[in-house]
Amino acid sequence: MTESPRHHWTVKQVVELFALPFNDLMFQAQTVHRANFDPNQVQVSTLMSIKTGACAEDCKYCPQSGHYHTDVERQRLLEVEKVLQEAAQAKDKGASRFCMGAAWSNPKERDMPYLVQMVEGVKEMGLETCMTLGKLTVEQAEVLGQAGLDYYNHNLDTSPEYYGEIITTRTYQDRLDTLSHVRSAGMKVCAGGIVGMGESRQDRAGLLVQLANLPMQPESVPINMLVKVKGTPLDQVDDLDPFEFIRSIAVARILMPASYVRLSAGREKMNDQMQALAFLAGANSIFYGDKLLTTPNPETSDDHRLFNTLGIKVEQREEASDEAHEQVLMSAVVESQQDKMFYEAN
Ligand code: SF4
Repeated sequence: MTESPRHHWTVKQVVELFALPFNDLMFQAQTVHRANFDPNQVQVSTLMSIKTGACAEDCKYCPQSGHYHTDVERQRLLEVEKVLQEAAQAKDKGASRFCMGAAWSNPKERDMPYLVQMVEGVKEMGLETCMTLGKLTVEQAEVLGQAGLDYYNHNLDTSPEYYGEIITTRTYQDRLDTLSHVRSAGMKVCAGGIVGMGESRQDRAGLLVQLANLPMQPESVPINMLVKVKGTPLDQVDDLDPFEFIRSIAVARILMPASYVRLSAGREKMNDQMQALAFLAGANSIFYGDKLLTTPNPETSDDHRLFNTLGIKVEQREEASDEAHEQVLMSAVVESQQDKMFYEAN
């Protein structure tokens, strides 16, 4: 790492960054990226929904909110064994981090022992662990931290100014408090937001300023493109210009030079060229798997094919063997090419 991140960005400065000519912005982002990371490496995680639907919160983008009628099938907290089986499969497919998501306002005390067993079991496989469970108390954060949870995901979603348009059941300050409890418990923070929810550029800048100016910048910053789901209040919102999405990634990279910027939800709708631009803008993390909680995600074999085309390597955890991983990557590429041949033969 060559420079310490700034923690006093203003919205005005960040709006100016957004407004740079596209090539200048990309050059700046790529320069910052290269000073801090291997530009041809991407970290991959797998995300599993461990409890689905019927959430008490009213996040207007979310098909899992109990406030809206969507096609999401409700599912209680899964058994520990089932979660560990999925984690083992994710590891076989090359993921280095396993993220477990529950559609809750907050975990209940009765759930905590199961969550602890999940964290301990996934850690034993040599995977990094991440959870997203909603609001946490100081005590719950400590219990999860002691169990060995590496990352906690809790997004700020949007700017403080636009927030009230999107969620009314939880405050912005609630979110900041949870992030602070996670930090105090010694865990790493994964926090980002969603663009394309009808917010302005000023709001996108406002979100990134909030994240960049946290006392310690998040280690992981997911930038999601809204996935419009029928039945949610945002299912008819106007599409965001794809270049504005790429600009958001680039600005996140410049503001948070040492963070992993994750190309997250919405990737299924992005073609190869757009994903390549996102990597060029400084995204260096993705989710593998055909589903992101409840919304579609590209097939793992498509990701491997794209990585192969772009010369991108999957980031390894230290204890993972390069050779074993390379084998997984190559077999997936071959599988994907065979799929294509079969498709073309039809
Ligand atoms: S808290 Fe999470 S699961 Fe619940 S409605 Fe909001 S985004 Fe969806």
